[in-house]
Amino acid sequence: MPAALHAPDLRSMSLEELAVLVERMGEKPFRARQLFRSIHHRGAASLDEMTDLPRAFRERLAGETRLTTLAVDAVQRSSDGTRKYRLRTGDGKFIEAVYMPEEPGPDAFDPEADEEDDPGRKRVRRTLCVSTQVGCAMGCGFCMTATMGLVRNLTAGEIADQVYRVNADLRDETGTEERALPATGRSRRAEASIEERALPATGRSRRAEASIEERALPATGRSRKAEAPIDAQRPLTNLVYMGMGEPLHNYVNVKRSLDLLLHPEGANFSHRHVTVSTSGLVPNIQRLGEETRVKLAVSLNATTDEQRAKLMPVDKKWNIAALIDACRKFPMKYGRRITFEYVLLKGVNDTDADARRLADLLAGLPAKVNLIPYNENPGLGFGDPGAERVQAFRRILEGRGFAAMVRKNRGRDISAACGQLAVAGQKEAPIRLGVRA
Ligand code: SAH
Ligand code: SF4
Repeated sequence: MPAALHAPDLRSMSLEELAVLVERMGEKPFRARQLFRSIHHRGAASLDEMTDLPRAFRERLAGETRLTTLAVDAVQRSSDGTRKYRLRTGDGKFIEAVYMPEEPGPDAFDPEADEEDDPGRKRVRRTLCVSTQVGCAMGCGFCMTATMGLVRNLTAGEIADQVYRVNADLRDETGTEERALPATGRSRRAEASIEERALPATGRSRRAEASIEERALPATGRSRKAEAPIDAQRPLTNLVYMGMGEPLHNYVNVKRSLDLLLHPEGANFSHRHVTVSTSGLVPNIQRLGEETRVKLAVSLNATTDEQRAKLMPVDKKWNIAALIDACRKFPMKYGRRITFEYVLLKGVNDTDADARRLADLLAGLPAKVNLIPYNENPGLGFGDPGAERVQAFRRILEGRGFAAMVRKNRGRDISAACGQLAVAGQKEAPIRLGVRA
């Protein structure tokens, strides 16, 4: 008999908590480590896969606990190698995670990601953008996720499992772990591509254009990136907490997920390769700095409180001065910088004066700026300023000595920009959530 939904979730438990559980069940202490490694190092999808555990123990675990595993509902692939995963939770909610393979270079998603490792060494990064909530409570006017409101927080196990499901899918491709996976009739990949074909091709003119553009590009850089070989030992190298939801509004579960994902007996991500993005929940920025060593990204998006409060209601609670002050106090390792994300919205926050004010605000901070041309959402009333304006904005920042990169619109043909994933997904999904107008 499978355990009920309220039973403790093995995927969300620390090694220490598993040790207590194992002891209570009268099992040998080393079973805790074995369980933890199965769940977080191998990313097992079910207890049945843990054949190194005695059957009787597995049966007892199945009766008294549960193991959160997300179902891969659909995978959409972009011509630039980006993949959008729509994942289903145990209670039928849909979340999305976006995979972005990328070679190093000035236009890379995070050009300084490896500067602490070895400045001379360049490696291919395979980054996953994970969600932390179903929906979001923060109400930013330009963001599709905001239109859902907050449906619920994701558990630590659900945050971590996004990594394990995508790792498994990428490994499938290399063919190495195929035998280790249970032989369920149809492969997940086959199911996903069937779903992809079934997705309606309506209302996508922009995305369709983008994919035509991409196909028309010469088969250099881009196509090589799409074919970047996947290392079966380490399919994903970097994580960004920039998907659906506000990570610092779900602090406890996010912190727990970081502990799980960075654990040396688990997926063993380095804090150097993990970035948490926030819209500016000041007290929890401080807490994140005290309790973790991961990198910080801040969605600033405006340069005056008048402007920012209109776009991001969080500014009414913690204004720009409080936010910048929290950034100044954020513990920084040598050579590390805070990323300031700045979504460029046509005629709203994209003028030369905005760029100059942005440089003034960040003066003296170890900062780099990530300019994000707005990925238009029909109905929200904001527009993309266009490449020329974006470059002019960038040049002003660079003139003031800031590293400023323009985030590529990854996977625009599949609507895969982080932060605007959710609602399109919900619309395509078989079960609709209550989307607030
Ligand atoms: N809630 C967190 C992390 C998720 S949003 C945060 O706000 O930082 C991730 C990023 O996507 C944010 O910088 C946000 O400003 C940006 N974003 C949201 N909607 C977007 C859109 N339609 N186009 C471009 N960027 C968008
Ligand atoms: Fe939430 Fe970030 Fe979207 Fe704002 S931009 S509504 S904080 S997900």
